[in-house]
Amino acid sequence: MPDGTARIRWAGWALAVLLLASCGGKRPVPYELRPSERIRGVYHTVERGQTLWRICKAYGVDMQTVAEVNNIRDVTQIRVGQRIFIPGATRVLKVEPYRPSPDGRPEPLRPVQTFEGTFIWPVHGSVTSSFGVRNGIKHSGIDIAAPKGTPVRASAAGEVAYRGTLRGYGKILILKHSSVYTTVYAHLGSWEVREGQKVRQGQIIGTVGNTGRSSGPHLHFEIRKRNKARNPLFFLSRRP
Ligand SMILES: [Zn+2]
Repeated sequence: MPDGTARIRWAGWALAVLLLASCGGKRPVPYELRPSERIRGVYHTVERGQTLWRICKAYGVDMQTVAEVNNIRDVTQIRVGQRIFIPGATRVLKVEPYRPSPDGRPEPLRPVQTFEGTFIWPVHGSVTSSFGVRNGIKHSGIDIAAPKGTPVRASAAGEVAYRGTLRGYGKILILKHSSVYTTVYAHLGSWEVREGQKVRQGQIIGTVGNTGRSSGPHLHFEIRKRNKARNPLFFLSRRP
């Protein structure tokens, strides 16, 4: 039996996205509700002795969030002079460098987390726009280039929570995978599933198109945990 309450809740959520997307910032909108959105923050330029963890501690921000926004999967890759976007910060802060102990041991590096194994690539193709911030605009997913008509596959098993057309996103599907995870597939050429339908991982759910705010056929793909957009590249295998 379909869960009526859940369906109403999802329809309401989708409607809220539609209304918010079409009324251009009259109400405060969590940035993760849009494919791209202005975001406040500052760029911190890495200086000698500063690790990602030190920088995040100084700014009081979650290191995993900063790593995902900046596409830093490997904290050993941080270099002096690198610019790191700190979401929410209003000014650049001084960050105390690490002073090596007398025995010269470097500071232990805290790794960022990756979550491979649950989600698969919905289409094969190169990532033409990554998750993160560029010129003050946040991109809540990744863009994967693929020819028009290419089948789009469910990244994980779940249920079609929403099928419709939203400003910016064009033809869109939202799959619900658990109580916390959803995935979003946008700019579709066609839908191949209906709302409420259960889907298996890898099942064809639509095709690549060019609908909505899009400059050529591609799939805009999002992974959200508790409706917060996460960096899909931290969840997908390195190679499609
Ligand atoms: Zn996109």
